[in-house]
Amino acid sequence: MNKPVPKVGFVSLGCPKNSYDSERILTQLRAEGYLIVPSYDDADLVVVNTCGFIDAAVDESLDAIGEALRENGKVIVTGRPGTRESVVTTAHPQVLAVTGPHAAEAVMGHVHAHLPKPHDPYSDLIPPGGLKLTPRHYAYLKISEGCNHRCTFCIIPALRGDLVSRPIGEVLAEAEALVKAGVKELLVISQDTSAYGVDLKYRTGFHQGRPVKTRMLELVQELARLGVWVRLHYVYPYPSVDDVIPLMAEGELPGGGRVLPYLDVPFQHASPAILKAMKRPAAAENTLRRIEKWRSICPDLVIRSTFIVGFPGETEDDFDTLLDFLDEAQLDRVGAFTYSAVDGAVANALPDPVDEDVKQDRLARFMDVQADISAEKLRLRRGSVMTVLIDEADGRRAVGRSHADAPEIDGVVHIAQGTGLKVGDFVQVKITRSDDYDLWGKPL
Ligand code: SF4
Repeated sequence: MNKPVPKVGFVSLGCPKNSYDSERILTQLRAEGYLIVPSYDDADLVVVNTCGFIDAAVDESLDAIGEALRENGKVIVTGRPGTRESVVTTAHPQVLAVTGPHAAEAVMGHVHAHLPKPHDPYSDLIPPGGLKLTPRHYAYLKISEGCNHRCTFCIIPALRGDLVSRPIGEVLAEAEALVKAGVKELLVISQDTSAYGVDLKYRTGFHQGRPVKTRMLELVQELARLGVWVRLHYVYPYPSVDDVIPLMAEGELPGGGRVLPYLDVPFQHASPAILKAMKRPAAAENTLRRIEKWRSICPDLVIRSTFIVGFPGETEDDFDTLLDFLDEAQLDRVGAFTYSAVDGAVANALPDPVDEDVKQDRLARFMDVQADISAEKLRLRRGSVMTVLIDEADGRRAVGRSHADAPEIDGVVHIAQGTGLKVGDFVQVKITRSDDYDLWGKPL
């Protein structure tokens, strides 16, 4: 008689970077013949991949672990919310095991111990690109783990350690497999994309027998050769980024690939005093001059950023400097948060915390300024034609994104008269309408 197939439930919390870790574990589980099931009732055990960066995420993680314990009882936790394993084991002593983040092998070890793997797994259970939590037409490509910076509000270096770049050959092989599996857009992620290869002294690796340096410039050149869109996240404004901008200005390459003229640069603030207190990378760079230079090389460049308002010690003058920066920089996409203490972060000990109501007031003023900038930038796109990648289609209408929109965090392009469009199609769209964040248009 055949043995029953062991079944694993999987809960993935948090940001895209965390989804990437989940995909690796899911792929391994399937490779070994485990079945992934969508309900607690059907599962023999549950793996919860948590996110531990901000306090709200720690609470969400602990709630999710509690729910999995109530509903199933056998729970392995990975990603470890908070700085210590004891955060989980104190709240939920019944969990079977807790591992740190980026620990697919350790998770598999615990799964094997509590739910032995089936005999004779078939490796062809996995599609060529592995299992992905994101839709089939775009995928996150993680190029490194950890970070050499020590921003005072952040505990990622404490959780994940210093920068460790993945070998370029391995990253490119994974990208190739994703493209073969149907991916049309690769989203390059890490904690610090511009630093890729620093830890390896930009060592030369190999891809398809050719030597390639482990460096951001060579990485994006090779990725664009795969014939897909390449989008860069978490880039700091170092001089080395200047070398990538001409690739963005080149437009579509002969094979259809493109380094998108899009940069996600987390500036976080503009006041020199606050940037210094935050210990931000590239804090001493003249950011406005750099942005100006980038735009002179690539006028179509879209810049997205995130900011923190109400950091300890932020005065009204510091905040005005930030608003002036927004006004001058004319960034295309902006997210903002009020500062909140993270358990274990150095910034918790800084003097002069900002009152909660002042933080909220500054956030509202900040978003007002940016909403006007964003609305005006999108208004200028009316009448233009943009290439759009389709994310959703119901046979009549469709929703997609242009080079200016990263999935999940930016706006979208709503397409009327989209008959026949399919998810993953590229289509030329004439823009007819806009609001503060989104565009509307018709296929040409
Ligand atoms: S750059 Fe700063 S905020 Fe980003 S991961 Fe490194 S320490 Fe954290």
